[in-house]
Amino acid sequence: MENLAIGIIGGGQLGRMLAMAASRLGFKVIVLDPMVDCPAAQLCSDHIVADYDDEAALEVLAQRTRIITYEFENVPVATAHFLEAKTTIFPPSRALEISQDRLTEKQFFARCSIPTVPYWQIDNKQDLHAALMESGGTGILKTRRLGYDGKGQHWFNSAVSEVDMSKAMEAINHAPAILEGFIDFACEISVLAARSQKGVVEYFDIPQNIHREGILRCSQVPASIDDIIADQARDYTQRLLEALDYVGVIAVEFFVTKDGGLIANEFAPRVHNSGHWSEAVCCVSQFDQHIRAITGLTLVRPQRHGDCVMENLIGEDVAKLPELLGQENVLIHLYGKHEVRAGRKMGHFTRIF
Ligand code: AMP
Repeated sequence: MENLAIGIIGGGQLGRMLAMAASRLGFKVIVLDPMVDCPAAQLCSDHIVADYDDEAALEVLAQRTRIITYEFENVPVATAHFLEAKTTIFPPSRALEISQDRLTEKQFFARCSIPTVPYWQIDNKQDLHAALMESGGTGILKTRRLGYDGKGQHWFNSAVSEVDMSKAMEAINHAPAILEGFIDFACEISVLAARSQKGVVEYFDIPQNIHREGILRCSQVPASIDDIIADQARDYTQRLLEALDYVGVIAVEFFVTKDGGLIANEFAPRVHNSGHWSEAVCCVSQFDQHIRAITGLTLVRPQRHGDCVMENLIGEDVAKLPELLGQENVLIHLYGKHEVRAGRKMGHFTRIF
């Protein structure tokens, strides 16, 4: 049955949860990750310990699996292209390519007629100076690539000096960046949707997300938004899915403005932290739905059987565990990470109401 195996690139918690869902559907899973004791390896049938650009290792993964997916958006595009030539990889590499660069991502949103925050391309301090002049002196400098969970970002909250600008450029190692105007949003939401190989799209109910220091803290479902905004958010997501000829689960993050407008922040071509609650209140979680989509199984509407709040356990938050373990209607999910570090996602729990 080896040919029914699914390959996952990246063995973090998302890879681990995908592996759990795949196992439940009877698939074997082989993960490729350079870290020996990565969270997914603990429950996959095999673990190829190799770098993401190790072609010999990728070749082995392609030979031993029927389909390959990934759990993070910074999989090298060359890796995706290498695999595409040999096997099937979903979501398509184009989604990776676009989402890896905040500038191309914003340009792609624009091509799909999806509104984005005002932004300026920043290649040097002069660009930053000019952009801050236009933005009124405030905004967020974000590296175009490799920023996540608030990393590679510098916030300008009030008027800045030349020295501040130099420090900000240094802080991001003079990497190509964008400056984004601040959005004084009413709330943040994300659309989690899956598209099948036949083009069928199914949506999860929309969560409302709370971030602190750039990291997602909790997701509440349902979101406190009206149907018009929810429909609009789903419509924007559908445009992206079609334009990308997408297969798998996608997450699109939006700001809801105080006047009821909707602005796309970014999309992730993968399962997403803001969809973790689905394992607690839907028969088909985002992980199940992703595995169904990439393997050609039927997608179903992920009906929600309760209101809930998912909260991340970040760093020392794991100290809450003994208390949580004694509470009813709380689904706890830990990632098997041994070392607690500040800012590290150790697990999450979903409280069902
Ligand atoms: P990001 O890394 O782009 O997902 O940003 C992380 C979080 O920072 C977002 O979820 C927001 O809470 C906040 N944020 C990012 N960009 C902006 C913006 N342009 N205006 C206001 N808040 C933002």
